[in-house]
Amino acid sequence: MLRMPKIVDTHTHICDSSFDMDRGQVLDKAADAGVGAVISVGENIADARRNIELADRHPMIRPAAGLYPTILDLAKAEEMQSFIRKERLKLVAIGEVGLDFRVVKEEPQRRLQKEILKGFINLSKKLDLPLNIHSRSAGRHAVALLLEYGASRVQMHAFDGKASAALAAVEAGFFFSIPPSVVRSRQKQKLVKHLPLSCLLVDTDSPVLGPDPKQRNEPANVIIAIQAIAELKNVSEEKVVKAITENTKRLYGDIC
Ligand SMILES: [Zn+2]
Repeated sequence: MLRMPKIVDTHTHICDSSFDMDRGQVLDKAADAGVGAVISVGENIADARRNIELADRHPMIRPAAGLYPTILDLAKAEEMQSFIRKERLKLVAIGEVGLDFRVVKEEPQRRLQKEILKGFINLSKKLDLPLNIHSRSAGRHAVALLLEYGASRVQMHAFDGKASAALAAVEAGFFFSIPPSVVRSRQKQKLVKHLPLSCLLVDTDSPVLGPDPKQRNEPANVIIAIQAIAELKNVSEEKVVKAITENTKRLYGDIC
């Protein structure tokens, strides 16, 4: 029998308290659906510590650490950088970090946000650790900054910009992760159609960005993103699974 490659949910908040009652079952369900590992991103230092702790208990969890882009605090950014340096060997990514221009509207605050992101880009290069990037209403700006500062191992998560704004990033070898909300987002559908399969990953951003916004999203739903990609690109699901597992390996190495 052919062994299916293991899928990675490349961006979930499985440390979120909404999973406290049934995290083990949620991960078992994901494993049954073909998921081999989940990259658990964090928004702050408490999440980062918790991700590492949870990874000890749940072998499917690969911990990441980052500072959510709306937290505009240089001291917290510095604290997060030291944490990442110290825990480097336990982490698979820096994330989530990035730019959010929907929430942060004033120019001085946006400059500070870019300054903090620059720090994480430099750290990513120094430690050879991939960046797991949030960019809301700031896709073009995030791509420009990442290219300017020479980031090379990059996942653009839930990119909400135009495909044309993504092309320079594709050329630079960045990856784009598609969440299950692709089934209800015209913008994500267009992105999938225009970007090559060789740069796509899947994620869930669970507990949010599910197929139904009123329901808790979970890692097993990466399958919904895979089905949507297959349909939009008019290829088989097997081909999509093969491509995204290879892409995941190119960015993160053998983490399953
Ligand atoms: Zn997220």
